[in-house]
Amino acid sequence: MTAQTTILKARWLLPMSPGSQVLNDHALVIQGERIAAILPWAAAAQQFPDAATVELGEHVLIPGLINAHTHSAMSLLRGVADDVPLMDWLNNHIWPLEKKWVSEDWTYQGSLLSAAEALRGGVTYLNDMYFFPTAMARAALDSGVRAGVSINVIDFPTGYAANAAEYISKGLEAYEQYKGEKLLDWTSAPHAPYTVSDETFVQLRDLALKLDIQMHCHIHETQFEVDESVKQHGMRPLERLNKLGLLNERMMAVHMVHLNEAEIAMLAKQGVHVVHNPNSNMKLASGVCPVTALEAAGVNTVLGTDGAASNNRQDMFGEIRAAALLAKGVTQNSTTVSARTALEMATIRAAKAMGRGDDLGSLEVGKLADVVAVSLDALECRPVYNPEAQLVYVAGREHVSDVWVGGKQVLKNRVLTQVDQAAVLDRIEAIVAQMKAQR
Ligand SMILES: [Zn+2]
Repeated sequence: MTAQTTILKARWLLPMSPGSQVLNDHALVIQGERIAAILPWAAAAQQFPDAATVELGEHVLIPGLINAHTHSAMSLLRGVADDVPLMDWLNNHIWPLEKKWVSEDWTYQGSLLSAAEALRGGVTYLNDMYFFPTAMARAALDSGVRAGVSINVIDFPTGYAANAAEYISKGLEAYEQYKGEKLLDWTSAPHAPYTVSDETFVQLRDLALKLDIQMHCHIHETQFEVDESVKQHGMRPLERLNKLGLLNERMMAVHMVHLNEAEIAMLAKQGVHVVHNPNSNMKLASGVCPVTALEAAGVNTVLGTDGAASNNRQDMFGEIRAAALLAKGVTQNSTTVSARTALEMATIRAAKAMGRGDDLGSLEVGKLADVVAVSLDALECRPVYNPEAQLVYVAGREHVSDVWVGGKQVLKNRVLTQVDQAAVLDRIEAIVAQMKAQR
């Protein structure tokens, strides 16, 4: 039996493969879960006469966006505490609420809300860090989004686990339960240098090696974090992690706001991936990740939203635009982080950071068909001179119309195909009503 063939016909196609340019009047052909061909409209109809055709009109087809850092379940805490500093926000708002409320079901419902939000915004991959990894795994499988699920450790007791050993054993149980699932990748995820001991870091480093998975950790988010580490350990967090053997091409280092020149050179040399979260860093007043300097040094820099409690919009179009504008603003150099670079940071480069560069991140024959159709039809998106720049500086997630993940259509004309949106909202409202009543 041959796999089902679908032709997607759109005005523009942006492959995002190295050196590629916008293709006009091209079709993308999906066979089964992969991309079978990219060719002019007429040739597609000729070569695949029996295929179903989706006529998309004034749309641009792009690879699914990859959100390289989030805490999906925290959508349940969206707007719970705004306009406060990071440590106050964590100690007095987020951690007490999580301690009280986090459960398997709470995590699942929040993760499902985030998965739905992601797909409606053109995001086909969520790199998550949170407790109850089975809940994220289920939310991803139920919604059809891809996810990096975390074997997460924070070295203090929560409603999920009492100590590092329990976090790791629970993470491993989840990994064993779901390891064959095609939509899921796994990461070894120590929360941060200020919440994880040397012993635990070493254990998680060895675990990543053994399972051949990426690592995912918040590093150098605030000046306070760096200063405290110098007081406590006599060195900056990056130096400590380097001594522990954690800084290599497996590491996705999140935030990385406060970096010196020597650190940037070391990151480049050792192949560490940096996950820039421009909106979360601005909102929590942490500072700005020096993306221009990282780029110049050759560090693979990618984008994430962070959780919805710190960046209330889980919107990768917003991160892409912020990355392009913020770098220009702080360097007074309008050529830095071009539209193309910003898009790469959410696609091809992010796939590489996840260790999935062979399968994801660009529209190329043989890769998995994670495809997003963005409509440039709307009045506010006209006229179109350069579709690539239009995606960054003009269009938003509200212009995403259709999404395919692994060849399967998960968003059709802005409606999710696998998730009952009304039912999700009902469950969220019930949970939040309970939380508000007991605050
Ligand atoms: Zn985070």
